[in-house]
Amino acid sequence: MATQGLVIINTGHGKGKSTAAFGQALRAAGQGLRVCIIQFIKGQAKTGEALAFITAFPGQVELHLAGTGFTWQQDMETVKEAALAGWQLAREKIASDAYDLMVLDELTYLIGLGLIPEDEVIALFRARPKRLHLVITGRDASQGLIEYADLVTEMRAIKHPFQKGIKAQKGIEF
Ligand code: ATP
Ligand code: MG
Repeated sequence: MATQGLVIINTGHGKGKSTAAFGQALRAAGQGLRVCIIQFIKGQAKTGEALAFITAFPGQVELHLAGTGFTWQQDMETVKEAALAGWQLAREKIASDAYDLMVLDELTYLIGLGLIPEDEVIALFRARPKRLHLVITGRDASQGLIEYADLVTEMRAIKHPFQKGIKAQKGIEF
């Protein structure tokens, strides 16, 4: 049977959206699938997942950092420029038909911030190669995107160490 590419969304306010997406990418890579990951918004410094994928799957897993750090530390113009460049890259990568699975990490924020219209995102997804699986992460996925997706999971926060004042730690948050 031909592969049926799925649109998978990990959303919600709890932790685990991006790590689940990277877990999915790891599973795909282990099966020999070709993977491309684009990290939007955040992602300037090398994260654990970037270091692991680049060293473990050279030439099979591509990882692009399209972010400029945290939105609240940057002026909006810089965030916008980086996000739009990342979106252009995503368009090219999807159209290239060179991958089996792509992760668009934190893509929901581009829609939420009004940087790219939801219609444009869905139109691109519709026109993608049939076999291409897409994994999208980020809080507050928009309604149209949720309706279009095949698999949507909401991470719900019950407790987070941040509430006790424990800051982000290497190997857990990045
Ligand atoms: P992860 O990358 O660990 O899977 P995530 O992708 O679900 O997390 P994001 O919304 O991308 O989470 O937020 C990134 C950072 O915010 C992570 O370092 C995460 O630990 C932290 N975070 C996630 N959920 C919460 C929460 N409920 N309260 C405070 N911080 C949170
Ligand atoms: Mg995330």
